Amino acid sequence: ASGYSLLRNPCHNKGLAFTEKERDAHYIRGLLPPVVVKQDLQVKKMMNDLRLYEVSLHKYQAMMDLQERNEKLFYKLLVENFEELLPIVYTPTVGEACQKYGSILKRPQGLFISLQHKGKILEILNNWPEKDIQVIVVTDGERILGLGDLGCQGMGIPVGKLSLYTALGGIRPSAKLLNDEFYIGLRQKRATRQEYMELMNEFMTAVKHNYGEKVLIQFEDFANHNAFDLLAKYSPTHLVFNDDIQGTASVVLAGLMTALKLVGGSLADHTFLFLGAGEAGTGIAELLALEISKQTQAPLEEARKNIWLVDSKGLIVKSRLNSLQHFKKPWAHEHQPVTNLLDALKAIKPSVLIGSSGVGQTFTKEVVETMSSFNEKPVILALSNPTSKSECTAEQAYTWSQGRAIFASGSPFGPVECNGKVYVSGQSNNAYIFPGFGLGLMISGATRVHDDMLLAAFCKSIFANETQRTQNKKIRSPDCVTSTAPHDSITSFLCFCFALARLLYRRSTCASCDIYNIAAIMRSIRKLNLNGIPAITNMKRSF
Ligand code: NAP
Ligand code: MN
Repeated sequence: ASGYSLLRNPCHNKGLAFTEKERDAHYIRGLLPPVVVKQDLQVKKMMNDLRLYEVSLHKYQAMMDLQERNEKLFYKLLVENFEELLPIVYTPTVGEACQKYGSILKRPQGLFISLQHKGKILEILNNWPEKDIQVIVVTDGERILGLGDLGCQGMGIPVGKLSLYTALGGIRPSAKLLNDEFYIGLRQKRATRQEYMELMNEFMTAVKHNYGEKVLIQFEDFANHNAFDLLAKYSPTHLVFNDDIQGTASVVLAGLMTALKLVGGSLADHTFLFLGAGEAGTGIAELLALEISKQTQAPLEEARKNIWLVDSKGLIVKSRLNSLQHFKKPWAHEHQPVTNLLDALKAIKPSVLIGSSGVGQTFTKEVVETMSSFNEKPVILALSNPTSKSECTAEQAYTWSQGRAIFASGSPFGPVECNGKVYVSGQSNNAYIFPGFGLGLMISGATRVHDDMLLAAFCKSIFANETQRTQNKKIRSPDCVTSTAPHDSITSFLCFCFALARLLYRRSTCASCDIYNIAAIMRSIRKLNLNGIPAITNMKRSF
C-alpha cells in the first residue's frame, strides 16, 4: 500500500505524529509537512479546536470528522477527556445528531440493512470491509433515546455507543421524518410482525454464520413491543444482550447500592416506585428483585413486593392484570387503582423514585416535595434521555428538596449551587456499563449472557464508583457528595472485564459457559494494550 492511501486510512493514519522512521518506512516522505508532533500535542490542539465551537452539534461533527480521519487520536481524545466529550458523542448531543442525521451524515460508519435486502443479508454483511467482527450494536431505530421512532437515522446511537460497534439501520421512520427532505432511509412504513421478525431472523442467522458463536450482539433502542421478545428469542442461541433492559438495570443497581451508603439500610429495607414500566423500568425492577432475593434468601415473589411501577395508565395493580403487557404482569400487586404519579407516591410512600418514562418534567415540584415530606434523603433518579426528557433537572431536585435529594440522571447535569453548597450529581447511564460488559464477554470468550454476569457487572461498577468518588477533585466536601453512578466508565469497564474473566474462569465447568484458559484471557487483555492504567495493573496482580 502506498503512503498516500495510508494517510487516508483512519485506522492507520497518525497525521503529523508519524515519526521520521515511519515516514521513510511507509513512503510518506513529502506527503506531510516536515514537523513531527507527539500525539499529546495533537490531543491538546484538537481539544482547543473543539472548545472553540459554541454549538454542541458542531463539536459532534468535529469528533465524527476526526474519527473518519484518525481513529487513534479520536479514541485517545475520548479516553482522556471522557467527562467533557461524553455529552458530545453520546446523550444529549447524539440525540440531536440523529434527528438531523440526514443533513450531517458524511461517511456512514455503520451498515444499513433494510427491507430491500431481504434474502441478501449475508451478502450485505460481506460488503463490510472488516471480516473479524467481535461486537455488533444493532438498532431498528424505533425508540431512540426518548425521542421516538427516528427510523434509519437512529444509526447515530450505535455509532455513538462509544463508536466501537457496527450496526444495522432501522426501517420505519415516523411520519414527520418521512416528509423530511433530508431523511436517509426508505420512505415507507415500518415493517411489522412476520415481515419484521423474518428480517431480524435473517440478520441474526447471517451474523452467526459469518462471525461465529462468539460475536456479541447488543440490542439497542428497540421499541418494547419487540425488545423483550427478541431478547427472549435469541438469548438461548446467541451471545446477545439488550442494553436498555439489562445494561440499564446493572448500572442503576450500582447507583442504588451507592445511594444506600448515603441513606442507610439495605435494598430490602427500601420501597421503590418507578415512573415508566417499559424496558428500562421493568429491566431495573427485575434485576433489583433478583438482587434483593439473593441478599435476603427470600423468594423472588417476596422480593418484588416493595417494588411498584406506574405506566401511562397509572399504578400497575392486580385489577389491571388482564390488559397488561407480559413484562408488566409480575409487578401487578394488590392495591386499589391509582391513576397518577402524585397519588401513587402518597399511597406507596417510596424511599426511591425512578423515572424511566421518556417524558420530561414529570417530577414536578409537588412530586419532589412529596418525596421529601416522608424521606429525610429521598433518592431520585431521572433516567430519561436526552436532557429535554429528563424527569427533572438536577437544580430542581436539589432546590425542591432543599438539598436533601440523592439525585442522578441519565443525561449529565453540571454542578448545582443550593443554599451555599455545591452539589455534583451522578450520571446514571448504561454507558457506564455496556463497554465493560461487552469487553468482559469478549475477552472471557463467553457464548451466552446470564443474570449473574449482570450482577457481577453492577458490583464492579460500585467499586469503580467508590474509587472515583475518593479521587474526584470536583467534589468539594463529603456532605455534598450525591454521586450515585460510576463516573469513570473506563475504570468501570476495565474492572469489570477482569471481574467477569475471573468469574467465568472460576466457573469453567458450567456447561453453558464452555470456555477458557487463563492464558488466552491474558493474551487478549495484553492485546488490548491497556497497561499502565492503575486499575488494570492492580487487577492483574490479583489474578
Ligand atoms: P419504553 O419501553 O417505551 O417505556 C416507557 C414507559 O413509560 C412505558 O411503560 C410507558 O407507559 C411509560 N410512560 C410513557 N408516558 C408516560 C407518562 N406520561 N406517565 C407515566 N408513564 C409513562 O422505553 P424505555 O426503553 O424504558 O426508555 C424510557 C426512557 O428511559 C427513555 O427516555 C430512554 O432514553 C431512557 N433510558 C435511559 C437509560 C439510562 O441509562 N439512563 C437507559 C435506557 C433508557 P405505557 O406502557 O403505558 O405506554
Ligand atoms: Mn439505549
